[in-house]
Amino acid sequence: MKTKAAVLYEYKQPLVIGELDLDGPRQGEVLVEVMAAGICHTDLSVISGLYTVPAIPCVPGHEGAGIVREVGPGVENPKVGDHVLFLWVPRCGQCYYCQHDQPYLCELRNWTRAGTMLDGTTRLHKDGQDILNMTGLGTFKQFTVVPQQSTLPIHEDIPFEVAALTGCGVITGAGAVLNTAGVEAGSSVAVLGIGGVGINVIQGAVVAGATKIIAIDLLDSKLAEAVKMGATHTINAGKEDALEKAFEITGGIGADYAFDLVGGQRATETCLGLIRQGGSAVIIAVPGMEETAVVPLTPFIVTEKKLLACYYGSSNLNFDLNTLLDLYKLGRLKIEELISDRYSLEEINQGFDDLVSGKNMRGVVIM
Ligand SMILES: [Zn+2]
Ligand SMILES: [Zn+2]
Repeated sequence: MKTKAAVLYEYKQPLVIGELDLDGPRQGEVLVEVMAAGICHTDLSVISGLYTVPAIPCVPGHEGAGIVREVGPGVENPKVGDHVLFLWVPRCGQCYYCQHDQPYLCELRNWTRAGTMLDGTTRLHKDGQDILNMTGLGTFKQFTVVPQQSTLPIHEDIPFEVAALTGCGVITGAGAVLNTAGVEAGSSVAVLGIGGVGINVIQGAVVAGATKIIAIDLLDSKLAEAVKMGATHTINAGKEDALEKAFEITGGIGADYAFDLVGGQRATETCLGLIRQGGSAVIIAVPGMEETAVVPLTPFIVTEKKLLACYYGSSNLNFDLNTLLDLYKLGRLKIEELISDRYSLEEINQGFDDLVSGKNMRGVVIM
């Protein structure tokens, strides 16, 4: 069949909208009509060439939700007609990591990160040339074929755009708080960088019962959004000293937890500086492939600070995603409110321009 898609042929160039050939689903695969796809910073990292997996040409897009239209041999779940959200890490349920409640580290991700199906091939072509899919999904197209392990059935009353965002930014941000850090009620939390994930760190901190939630950013517009979502304090790091102000807010001690949504050496240093003795700094932002951070060991050890990494919200995926969608239905997680703009597939490059300019908290492509 044919599908309209937004293809990355060259780094740092606009995506090209065009028609591709899509093979039907094989053993263990499903054909999904994509209804909504989130525009995320991670897509931008692929488009700019900061990440070089998958190789080009590829279809970016790793957040989305849609309707299953066809299933390949051997697929019992999901079924044709099911509404599903996409997981950017497939989970096999059987490997060491899946068995240890860490499906986000599932061994299958080596295939999908490289942009192929689980047999190392792709269903997507143009004029006989293979085209890869970001995280095995490539959600910036009308139809996609993905491994069944990359889908999670959802209730039909969940809007597709809500499901799309829950599958990446919401679970990553909230999961960093609830799973990676294990923030307790009454804690103080500092959030460095208020974008699509940072805003959900704030929401997660509210759910966890944190009583001091300090949003740090360079844009007052982002800080205002943070307050709407539950931040109790804001710091514009372009206008005031973030460390000094955070210490003032926390009674001279430092925050119990700090979350890095900026990435790189300076952001790591800032997060370690923001926390109190015994506190935890959680690194979520993925900087460029070559980035390193140097940690002076003696003060790090003497103050017993913890430096943690968070991937996909350290989440067990199935249960956590259903929990977050329940919290959304109860009105305790705001997800529609995160969406600032909606675009057609043809307008997707505008969506990325708006993400870069900071106009967007969250843009979504509606197919
Ligand atoms: Zn994302
Ligand atoms: Zn697994």
